[in-house]
Amino acid sequence: MNVDRYAVIGNPVAHSKSPLIHTAFAKATAQSLSYERLLAPRDGFAAAVADFAAQGGKGLNVTIPFKLDAFALVREKSERAESAGACNTLAWRGDHWFGDNTDGAGLLRDLTVNLSENIAGRSVLVLGAGGAARGILQPLLGQRPHRVVVANRTHARAVELATRFTPYGAVASIEPRALAGSRFDIVINATSIGLNSQVPRDLWPDGMFASAALAYDLVYANQKTPFMVWAAEQGAAKTADGLGMLIEQAAESFLLWRGVRPETAPVFALLRGG
Ligand code: NDP
Repeated sequence: MNVDRYAVIGNPVAHSKSPLIHTAFAKATAQSLSYERLLAPRDGFAAAVADFAAQGGKGLNVTIPFKLDAFALVREKSERAESAGACNTLAWRGDHWFGDNTDGAGLLRDLTVNLSENIAGRSVLVLGAGGAARGILQPLLGQRPHRVVVANRTHARAVELATRFTPYGAVASIEPRALAGSRFDIVINATSIGLNSQVPRDLWPDGMFASAALAYDLVYANQKTPFMVWAAEQGAAKTADGLGMLIEQAAESFLLWRGVRPETAPVFALLRGG
């Protein structure tokens, strides 16, 4: 039987939860499709994508380190991919790839729907200025926060990002150490310090969390991440990891490919349980 083929492409990719998520979405929405993992050589992204299309592949999720390569490869792209300068989703359009970026929409939905967080009028700090930060700034600014401040270890990258996103709203860059004395309602860790590294306490000052602040880590795990532990010690009232964002960005990709937006709560429960 011929079913539509989808995959997540990355390097490494073995850890990806995307096959589990999309298989669950397909089942819940009665869509007939297959979803696999594609490990591409670091210098072989374009060839692997072309090969997948030649085999009838309909869509790809793109993960580390290929989001910029995906942006460079596509002929047509969404406005949110354009503003991020990166693609995490590709859809085959008969004779070319369409590129989208669903990371920001995924974060926004997790913050505003799943976590019932209000962004309008609030102060938001984004730690990090890599690919993930680029994908989330426009959707955050679209919510009309009081301000978004970007702080990154390599300050020049934060400056570049803030400049790029100034047309979308109140965004500024700041040296991490100059954050001392500032307080934020929502602090988002978009760095790759991940699960095995320590929070850079020499770089990030104490006392950045306003009362009732949410600390949100883009990384996810079965236990609290180092950033979540640190944020709670620092007085953050609420902490969350990025599993909800992962599932919500996948639902956006699924919508683009299949024209139906799956329920995400059952998949969240499935992954949290397992
Ligand atoms: P990048 O490699 O593009 O960027 C990494 C960022 O982390 C840079 O700003 C870098 O600073 C900073 N950084 C790295 N190490 C340190 C450190 N020791 N101290 C302070 N800053 C540091 O990664 P991405 O932006 O693509 O991804 C960031 C994280 O977000 C990853 O963990 C990824 O898994 C996660 N993510 C989660 C998603 C989800 O759906 N939940 C979606 C997308 C990403 P510098 O510029 O100085 O090098």
